[in-house]
Amino acid sequence: MKRDRHVKIVATLGPSSSTYEMIRALHEAGADVFRLNMSHGSHEEIEERHKIIRQVEKDLNSPIAILADLQGPKLRVGEFANGSEELEWGQEFRLDLDETPGTSKRVQLPHPEIFEALEPGSTLLVNDGKIRLKVADCSSDHANCTVEAGGTISNRKGVNVPDVVLPVAALSDKDKRDLEFVCQLGVDWLALSFVQRARDVQEARDLANGRASIIAKIEKPSAVREFDNILAVSDGIMVARGDLGVELPVHSVPPIQKRLVRKCRAAARPVIVATQMLESMIESPMPTRAEVSDVSGAIYEGTDAIMLSAESAAGQYPIEAVQTMNNVAVSVESDPTYREVIEASRHADRKTVADGIVAATREIAETTDIKAICCFTSSGNTAVLVARERPRVPILALTSQRGTARKLSLSWGVQTVMTGELERFKQAVVNAARAARAEGYAGADDQIVVTAGVPFNTTGTTNILRVAPCDERLIYSTDPE
Ligand code: ATP
Ligand code: MG
Ligand code: MG
Repeated sequence: MKRDRHVKIVATLGPSSSTYEMIRALHEAGADVFRLNMSHGSHEEIEERHKIIRQVEKDLNSPIAILADLQGPKLRVGEFANGSEELEWGQEFRLDLDETPGTSKRVQLPHPEIFEALEPGSTLLVNDGKIRLKVADCSSDHANCTVEAGGTISNRKGVNVPDVVLPVAALSDKDKRDLEFVCQLGVDWLALSFVQRARDVQEARDLANGRASIIAKIEKPSAVREFDNILAVSDGIMVARGDLGVELPVHSVPPIQKRLVRKCRAAARPVIVATQMLESMIESPMPTRAEVSDVSGAIYEGTDAIMLSAESAAGQYPIEAVQTMNNVAVSVESDPTYREVIEASRHADRKTVADGIVAATREIAETTDIKAICCFTSSGNTAVLVARERPRVPILALTSQRGTARKLSLSWGVQTVMTGELERFKQAVVNAARAARAEGYAGADDQIVVTAGVPFNTTGTTNILRVAPCDERLIYSTDPE
């Protein structure tokens, strides 16, 4: 779908956003990618939402990426008889292995290994650190805690134990089952939680076996340390600030975010900035000024995408949250300072013919009056390289691969149009001109830049750059076959 901005919006689906009407309205309001969080919701629910997204995609003829987020070795509390409870400062609260639904006095923490590792004085953080519990006494099957920071605790909220080292595998059995399930359903991106090293990504990649591209969520101190190696084996990155801000001091998150976004852009890997972007909009139709500033900051840094979690999954104002992100993006991107910042931070690592062609494409497009950069791509790689250049002119990716079209909806500024299989370059140029006109980027008297690889339909061959008129008669009369 054509947008008035380059940065993309990822919206998590959940109880507040599970109907056809809602998912369609979210896409129309600006959500480019939908995230299915495997930590919440049954396989039936996931399958139902998946089906609805594909229906919306078909009805609006607009490629949509689906991102399935695997829970990873995240510790979570069990469920409450009332769904949630209020914990108050100073009260006692017990964690144990008992499956009986929780109350205001206790809840299950179904991880025996934590009880083994806890000591009196250990701190447990619940719900991205909003609730803090201090262990008073504990054994191998329970911990009695004092509430040091209270709040609402609800079903399956995450738990962090920052001062305790836990022996955990990268992919739990549940993750492996979920991975197989979503790969069979057909998702475009798989996000891995709590990645610690490149090997964790490789393990998921082997299991996915080409059926989905892999996003590593950076939320552990070790992942920050190992970042370069992780980036090298990942297709995309998520700066997962919720757990990151609990595992590390919260003030260390902004510099890490800036550094990771830059590295991803240099490496031409899509990057998502996630968590608490518009947190107050879970309950309020208006964001705080600080949240608006945070969303703007991520866009100024040049991130590919910004994400909504509970705001769209479980909040009261999912559409307003997407609209807010959209409005902030339009505002930031029309600021001359945004262009200055984006251009000053362009330092790509160029090695291939495609890198060179793409850089030249931007130069030409910005030197003369070019209305769109049209790139033919089968794997999506050329479009991602064009996106890395962060050009001023619209990027139109043309592909015959539906999976590529979907996946690209995460990449900065890329709008995708499906084309048939092509055999001749002249036909490609004609198709590009038609697409640019149909999408409203160019008129018959305008010019576009077209990149492609000949022969067609082999990946990694981008080798042609053509400045073309949008008038088909001119193309037919001037272009070589
Ligand atoms: P993660 O660590 O993967 O971000 P999370 O628990 O923080 O996990 P988010 O998707 O970031 O989850 O936030 C969504 C919030 O919405 C959750 O905290 C949860 O309380 C609520 N929710 C309830 N049901 C769902 C669902 N089916 N999908 C997603 N979120 C849900
Ligand atoms: Mg997380
Ligand atoms: Mg979260």
